[in-house]
Amino acid sequence: KAAADQGTCWKIHDPAANGAQQWALSLLGELDQAIDNGHLWVAYQPKMELASRRIIGAEALARWTHATRGPIGPDEFIQVAERHGRIEKLTAFVLNDAARVGAEAMRQDPDFCISVNISSALLASRNIIDMVRQALAANAFPAANLILEVTETAAMAEGRVAIALLEELRDMGVRLSIDDYGTGMSTLEYLRSIPATELKIDKQFSMALQSSAEDQAVVQSTIELAHALGMIVVAEGIETAETLYLLDQMGCEIGQGYHICRPTDWETILTMIPAPARIVANG
Ligand code: C2E
Ligand code: MG
Ligand code: MG
Ligand code: MG
Repeated sequence: KAAADQGTCWKIHDPAANGAQQWALSLLGELDQAIDNGHLWVAYQPKMELASRRIIGAEALARWTHATRGPIGPDEFIQVAERHGRIEKLTAFVLNDAARVGAEAMRQDPDFCISVNISSALLASRNIIDMVRQALAANAFPAANLILEVTETAAMAEGRVAIALLEELRDMGVRLSIDDYGTGMSTLEYLRSIPATELKIDKQFSMALQSSAEDQAVVQSTIELAHALGMIVVAEGIETAETLYLLDQMGCEIGQGYHICRPTDWETILTMIPAPARIVANG
């Protein structure tokens, strides 16, 4: 009992832990309001088909412009939302925004796809199915134009339940993508069991490509593995023209990165989508 009390004292007097905890709690208090008052918004980063250099899709990335603290990155507030039961509300907001802009993009390119990141926490219950259905229906956005990004570790943590939910989403026509590939510790057997059509190579590999022969070997074999499993490959974190060139040469189909475009507001993305093909009367 004495030890437990001491433990509590330690926590209270540890300035770092206390500060972090307070920071998390104050963020949490404001997160609900931020969603309602527009301080939470969604940036989009284009996905480019490397062979044609065409923008064929975009990834939704949550942003928070705090009234007094300025911009707060998702790496800070997603975790807080996950731990304190706000991730569903946040994801519903992002899904809805994504479906709305996606429907707009489809008027210019019917094949345009929007990607949304899904936390592992959401792969434990059926609520995700309803959230997706609701966002698609409310915006008349087809399931086939939505891509949900899950990390390999995320699906692994929730095991069979996650796989069953992912299969149900796939059966609805939604596409699935394995995000940050290469940073987790999944087995090949496990990789095979995720019903994904796309594999995203983590940015740490793209960023090391130019300087490291080992990373080139890892990326090349990952591309071949993904293709053998019937998936297309997206490289994230393309920061130079040289990296883009290398990935294209290696057979990677799609790229994302600062060299192509930083995450930005939707209006800017819309100007990058090729205009609809004109119907030309022949003869
Ligand atoms: P992610 O899904 O792997 O997204 C890619 C991250 O890399 C983004 O960071 C993006 O801005 C950044 N990035 C893109 N191109 C480059 C590049 O060329 N170089 C470098 N160094 N970075 C690049 P961001 O926006 O800070 O998001 C971080 C993570 O937060 C995301 O990683 C994703 O896991 C999570 N996240 C963002 N929005 C949401 C959301 O709505 N829901 C959930 N559950 N997670 C989200
Ligand atoms: Mg992602
Ligand atoms: Mg990623
Ligand atoms: Mg990431």
